[in-house]
Amino acid sequence: MSRTQLERARAGETTPAMDRVAERENREAETVRTAVADGEAVIPANHAHEALDPMVIGADFATKVNANIGASEDASDPAGELEKLHTAVHHGADTVMDLSTGGPLAEIRGSILDHSPVPVGTVPIYEAVTRAESPEALTTDLLLEVIREQAEQGVDYMTIHAGVLMEHLPLTDGRITGIVSRGGSILAEWMEAHGEQNPLYVAFDEICEVLREHDVTVSLGDGLRPGSVADASDAAQFAELETLGELTERAQSAGVQVMVEGPGHVPLDQVAANVERQREVCDGAPFYVLGPLVTDIAPGYDHITSAIGATEAARAGAAMLCYVTPKEHLGLPDADDVRDGLAAYRIAAHAADVANGLPGARDWDDALSSARYEFDWRRQFDLALDPERARDFHDQTLPGDNYKEARFCSMCGVEFCSMRIDQDAREGDGEMTRTATEIDLDASPAAATNRPPVGTHDTERLPAWPPDPVDAMHGSAEGNGEADD
Ligand code: SF4
Repeated sequence: MSRTQLERARAGETTPAMDRVAERENREAETVRTAVADGEAVIPANHAHEALDPMVIGADFATKVNANIGASEDASDPAGELEKLHTAVHHGADTVMDLSTGGPLAEIRGSILDHSPVPVGTVPIYEAVTRAESPEALTTDLLLEVIREQAEQGVDYMTIHAGVLMEHLPLTDGRITGIVSRGGSILAEWMEAHGEQNPLYVAFDEICEVLREHDVTVSLGDGLRPGSVADASDAAQFAELETLGELTERAQSAGVQVMVEGPGHVPLDQVAANVERQREVCDGAPFYVLGPLVTDIAPGYDHITSAIGATEAARAGAAMLCYVTPKEHLGLPDADDVRDGLAAYRIAAHAADVANGLPGARDWDDALSSARYEFDWRRQFDLALDPERARDFHDQTLPGDNYKEARFCSMCGVEFCSMRIDQDAREGDGEMTRTATEIDLDASPAAATNRPPVGTHDTERLPAWPPDPVDAMHGSAEGNGEADD
């Protein structure tokens, strides 16, 4: 019988996935095994996801970033979803969530799984609602059927909103923005229509049996997350969190890997307290936060309002950040929005890793600063979080090859370039022997993580774009080495 990473870690076994994760994070495999065994880290790796390059999510490892993709009723093209997958991984997504609600859902998901080197997450209740045709028509059997089918297909983690209970619903009455989670609002409508408890809560043990069989990590959804800073940290949010703590223990006891989802919209001064409360209630299970947005006033710029909250959350111990794009609250993101959202979140994740002293994280900063001071423009571009953008912006005003050795750029101009003036002055004083020590990133403890140009990814595993037309729907890459006993 197959066992999960959690069960194998508890048995003292170091799996191939743990070895690979340790290599990517530059850590000891035993450190990874212990964190997984203690429930403080997860390795979402469904046995059937053959293209996966395993990664780890936990507060003691590099902060990860998720990007949402997925088709809607208005835009449901499988090839388009593969293009979104490519864009997301190219710009540094550590995981993707397929939130499709329209089109041939199983076909789109299968295609994404065939090509994705990063873990793929879903929210099964979306597909269940499309099949039931209305929230009220959902049944427990249908929910279990969809979860089973997606698990068999190879989904690595699933958001299950089992923590929204009937008794929590009145606590949302005084809110400005009510219930803003899609899953939470669907389940609230179902409970009110039927006068019965949340079916995902009632059937949670059966759900865990399915997840355990395929080693699907459960991501406990926060259906009552606040949708505005006014609603943050209220009774409804924290009542649900208590239930998520109970469910964390139940799922882990069943051998299922667990992470817990968090808010949403939270004023900056409450973010750290939210993270600390989750870690206490859920016994250190990895916290996966959406933002949070720290103000509600900036539609069109919510990748910025939320990246501020995400930085603070990661600094306080959140393990994974779900990106937000500039289109949040306004419309479906396009490729440029995905790029901007991922850049904002990779900055948030890296800034927190630097501040938290993650081994080697700052080497990247030091290498880029050194290249900058030495006017090594090409190396500066190569090291940039988004090399294409850095090169483009520089070349908009100084495009020629001769400017790649210039001791200035167009920002201050040759006369007022402070770094040139400083270097000339130091050389004149005889003080300057060397501008900076060359940083050898290959020798850095972060050699395989935080590594430009695509974060924690092995660039050779980037899904090809455009895909081979024959292979597009059925392709496969190397296995994840997790064929179990
Ligand atoms: S001109 Fe200004 S911005 Fe450009 S390299 Fe010199 S100091 Fe930096």
